[in-house]
This record gives sequence, structure tokens and C-alpha cells, in this order.
Amino acid sequence: MFIHQIPSLIPRIFPKLIWEGNHDQDEPNVYFTFDDGPCPEITNFVLDELNKYEAKASFFCIGKNMVKFPALTQQILAHGHRIGNHTMNHANAWKMNPISYLNEIKACDDVMAQMGIESIGFRPPYGRLRPTFYHEIAETQPIFMWSILTGDYNASLDATDVIASCKKAIKPGSILVFHDSLKAFPLLKNILPALLQHCVQNGLKPISL
Ligand SMILES: [Zn+2]
Repeated sequence: MFIHQIPSLIPRIFPKLIWEGNHDQDEPNVYFTFDDGPCPEITNFVLDELNKYEAKASFFCIGKNMVKFPALTQQILAHGHRIGNHTMNHANAWKMNPISYLNEIKACDDVMAQMGIESIGFRPPYGRLRPTFYHEIAETQPIFMWSILTGDYNASLDATDVIASCKKAIKPGSILVFHDSLKAFPLLKNILPALLQHCVQNGLKPISL
């Protein structure tokens, strides 16, 4: 379920992918990230929870969702969080030709530019990329992966188990992936508050990328 150790092949093919955030002894930061939004109610829930713990986070938004929910998109920024590119339509790099895929990224970048959003970078949907167009993306923006996949989208997982596994894995610099989506909400609503509380109680500061 979790990807804690990255198969050595991936960093060799894609050397510029970012799997861990900045951290040091004095500033033990962790990075909560939320993919696939914005989504009414779910994103609001996430914003409320982050506020309770004075946490800042990163939202890798889908372009078409930002177009559909511009006020909610601006709310994310108004709360001091940051937004990155997750393609226009949640594109699957393994099923598209390079031109179409790069257009998906550009369309999402254009939406952000029109909304006055300074993107933090790109996260590929499904974590999928292809060597044929990886370099072109990596030259223009940081590509953020993760160190802890919470699996919140998998309804068959047990919240208590997920919380326990994540607590064991979280360390300074960890990048955690959640989803502000309807599908993820049944798990998200339990694991997000628990993991925020765990981090804050253990001196780990959630900040944006
Ligand atoms: Zn996604």
C-alpha cells in the first residue's frame, strides 16, 4: 500500500523527481499534499482541519475542477496553502502520446495563470510518467512525487491500520499524499485529523512545498 522505498530503477530513469521535502534538525517539516481537488465540501473539510492545527499544505489540483470551482480554488490560497498542476483532466501518461500529455499540463498551467495562481510544480496523476516526455516537463517545473501514499482512496482499507502505518513511517521531510475527493472521504475524514494531530504533537511542522 505504501511506497516508502523507491525501486532504484525509477530515480535512474527520472533523476529529478522529488520524493522528499526540505527539512533539517531545527525545522522538522512534513508535507501534507492533496490531489484531485478542488471538490466542494471535501476541500472545505480539509481546509478546516488544516486550520485547526495551523498546518499549511499543498494541493495538486485538476485544471477542470479549478475552472468549475474558482471560488473554492481561491479559498485554498486565502488560507495560505499552495497549488500545483495535476493536469487538466487527470491525464494518464501511460495511455497518451507525448503531445497530448504535454498539452494536458499546459492547459492546467494556463488555468492557473488566468486565475493568478503561482504553481508550485507538477504531480503526475497515478504517479505515472514516461521517459519520452519526462525531460521536457522536468526542465520547466519541479515534479513532486511522495514518500507516503496514505491509500485514502481505497475504501477496503481500515482507518486504524492506515493511521498506525503512517505514524510509523512519518519522519522529517515526509511527503504524504491524500485526496480531497468524494471517493477518498470515508477514510480521509478519519486519517487526516489523526495524522495532523500526530505530527503537531511530535514537533513535526506541516508546511507547503
Ligand atoms: Zn490524482
